[in-house]
Amino acid sequence: MAINEILEIKKQIIKYGKKLGEKNMSPATSGNISVKTGNNILITGSGTCLADLCEDDIVLIDKNANIVDGNIKPSSEKNLHNAVYAIRPDINAIIHCHAPYTSAFAVCRIPLSKPIISENVFYFGEIPVAEYALPGSEKLVENTAKFFTKHDAVLLANHGIVIGAKDLKNAYYLMETAETYAQIYLNSMLLGGAKELNKKEIEEIYALRSGSKS
Ligand code: 13P
Ligand code: ZN
Repeated sequence: MAINEILEIKKQIIKYGKKLGEKNMSPATSGNISVKTGNNILITGSGTCLADLCEDDIVLIDKNANIVDGNIKPSSEKNLHNAVYAIRPDINAIIHCHAPYTSAFAVCRIPLSKPIISENVFYFGEIPVAEYALPGSEKLVENTAKFFTKHDAVLLANHGIVIGAKDLKNAYYLMETAETYAQIYLNSMLLGGAKELNKKEIEEIYALRSGSKS
């Protein structure tokens, strides 16, 4: 594995971690980020602040979560990241965070499924809620990873959200999209409830997906 590639990915993780912090989507030391490189993944260290990462805060691990390179403890959610990569070969980057609006739906165990904004229908269809399990546990992996067969984003009950995409830039964009969706959804409830798109309107949006969502 080229050292330049590792350095480039570390720079990207630092960049998007900072952006998550700037957008208030990653309080304190919550959340973790990983990016696939060959058969391994680069993942943030346990207890690191995503908004304030340096190169030494990111560690290279293999499929079994053994450290390949680095002197820090990998994220406690390393097995969840590896399980998602195993299920979805098209996913190359994962963000897990405790962003306040999506996490509000996660703690209420309400899926983000209302078709109220065309962009979210297009990108997500639905963001389901995985059953609660202790953060960092094998049960959390079992409850959550299976949703990635059909979805790119999953809420973790009483915890946060996990999003996967073809690269880190797109995972970050999806995270912003989901968080904005949750904020609008919540605000719409205060205004008496959003008017949902109808079946035909939803089908028209799904039809746009083919070809353009790669
Ligand atoms: P780590 O700091 O171990 O990645 O844990 C943060 C977190 O969000 C656990 O769910
Ligand atoms: Zn978490």
